[in-house]
Amino acid sequence: GAPPPQQKAGIPALEKIRFIVAVASGKGGVGKSTTSANLALGLAAQGWRVGVLDADVYGPSMPRLFGLTDKPKVEGGKLAPLEAYGVKIMSMGFLVDENVPMVWRGPMVSQAISQMLGEVAWGELDALVIDMPPGTGDVQLTIAQQVPLAGAVIVSTPQDLALIDARRAVSMFQKVEAPILGVIENMSYFLCPHCGGRSEIFAHGGARHDAEQMGVPFLGEAPLDIKIRQTSDAGTPVVGAEPDSQQAAVYLNLAAKVK
Ligand code: ADP
Repeated sequence: GAPPPQQKAGIPALEKIRFIVAVASGKGGVGKSTTSANLALGLAAQGWRVGVLDADVYGPSMPRLFGLTDKPKVEGGKLAPLEAYGVKIMSMGFLVDENVPMVWRGPMVSQAISQMLGEVAWGELDALVIDMPPGTGDVQLTIAQQVPLAGAVIVSTPQDLALIDARRAVSMFQKVEAPILGVIENMSYFLCPHCGGRSEIFAHGGARHDAEQMGVPFLGEAPLDIKIRQTSDAGTPVVGAEPDSQQAAVYLNLAAKVK
């Protein structure tokens, strides 16, 4: 039940995409990319044709998350996305050498983003998940302004500092009138694989509390979990590799709420 996309100037390459969702976070390392990948797989599991745009030009994660090393082909003047688990994927990481540090100057980043938005042959999609760069700088604002977003999902850990940054991310999307689909608390709690005991390593419940205070939906909690980390590092995100696991259920649930 997401609201309709806003009227934007229009990027032809995105016109055949029904539902575009940005996954954002106030800072790095909170699990934004992990959430993006598994959300995309969760939407695909519900029968949707899905793409992932890795817009984190400074630290692209999708090549590692999906175990992709090929270079995209150029077809009809556009970049053809790679594919994993039936999901189409485009990342700056496919186009540059992983070992070359990305020391971009402002205009270069803007140009790279414009190309990623305008020159990928997505074809018809039911959903595109955009893994945003962390934070709320110019690049993030440009994407939020240019892309006809159905909405944004904000990822935060339960910790105070991450939450303060997450609030900034929420207000950035609100400023450009992109609907906030909700906030997800990642690394919300830890279930010991040995004793089954639950530990709240980064405290717990802060994101739910903040979401309520900001008047935006709370979308749920993902545990700090070794299987989530291991499957991501292996290039086989948990929803793709182990769709029947309890870890996958968290993201399938998220996908059902977001769409
Ligand atoms: P971001 O995109 O916000 O920088 P990532 O998704 O790359 O964050 O996650 C950072 C690291 O934390 C990665 O190694 C990832 O595998 C791990 N991670 C993310 N979420 C979880 C989780 N819920 N449980 C365990 N590890 C996680």
